[in-house]
Amino acid sequence: MATVTASGLTKVYGEDTVALDDVSFELEDGEFVVLLGPSGAGKSTLLRILNGLTQPTEGTLEIGGEEVTGTRSDVAMVFQMHYLVESMSAYRNSLTGALNRTETVDSVISNYEEADKDLALEALDTVGLLDEADQRAGSMSGGQQQRVGIARALTQNPELLLADEPVASLDPKAAQEVMRYLKLAADDRDLTSVVSLHQVNIAREFGERFLGLRDGEVVFDGGKEDLTMDV
Ligand code: ADP
Ligand code: ADP
Repeated sequence: MATVTASGLTKVYGEDTVALDDVSFELEDGEFVVLLGPSGAGKSTLLRILNGLTQPTEGTLEIGGEEVTGTRSDVAMVFQMHYLVESMSAYRNSLTGALNRTETVDSVISNYEEADKDLALEALDTVGLLDEADQRAGSMSGGQQQRVGIARALTQNPELLLADEPVASLDPKAAQEVMRYLKLAADDRDLTSVVSLHQVNIAREFGERFLGLRDGEVVFDGGKEDLTMDV
């Protein structure tokens, strides 16, 4: 769990591409927030700032009361293109999430600790893939691969879980299944979560709070009851 305070976040790429324009919000511990908005609205930019991968041009971001200045081990991200190592097992892929917690660059695969291995297996259990732990990631379905991507993020043992269009490449049935496990994981571990989606029906089914972005600005912040189709 972590509180998040974004104050006046602005991101300008190059001379004049304003990707985010004075974005402010607060997230409570354990909130599950869906980020909505058309392509180019600034969703990825906001997630990358939350993950410390991109620095805002202006404004500040605090996580757990601390100002963010770079990537943090307690913030994990799930990507649309999951970036699994296809030749490795689901278990090995899950285990690599532990690398994001290590401080040293010379940490190699043999240096995983027993605690990491337990975390990797627990994470696979959370996403319903314990029985598939030894399968090659490359042999799994798209939905299963994304669940391994979630497991890898969980093995990082985060407080804040981010997901950038995690189901955009999946068919509707697989997308629903992956979202179900993502929500389950967030609930199970009391994670504060921010998930960008463009399918309003899936957003509606799983979201609790919705942040709508358009042209880099927050145009909606509310619950399901206030959500209109054209966010
Ligand atoms: P999406 O709408 O799914 O976020 P985009 O095509 O906007 O996809 O962006 C894909 C990737 O390319 C992102 O990592 C984004 O930061 C980067 N990107 C997007 N637009 C530009 C641009 N004009 N110049 C350089 N990189 C860009
Ligand atoms: P979304 O995720 O909602 O599609 P993005 O954050 O990817 O939105 O993009 C917001 C705007 O910023 C778009 O105009 C996009 O082209 C631009 N953009 C994103 N990343 C980059 C980048 N690395 N360099 C230049 N422009 C970018």
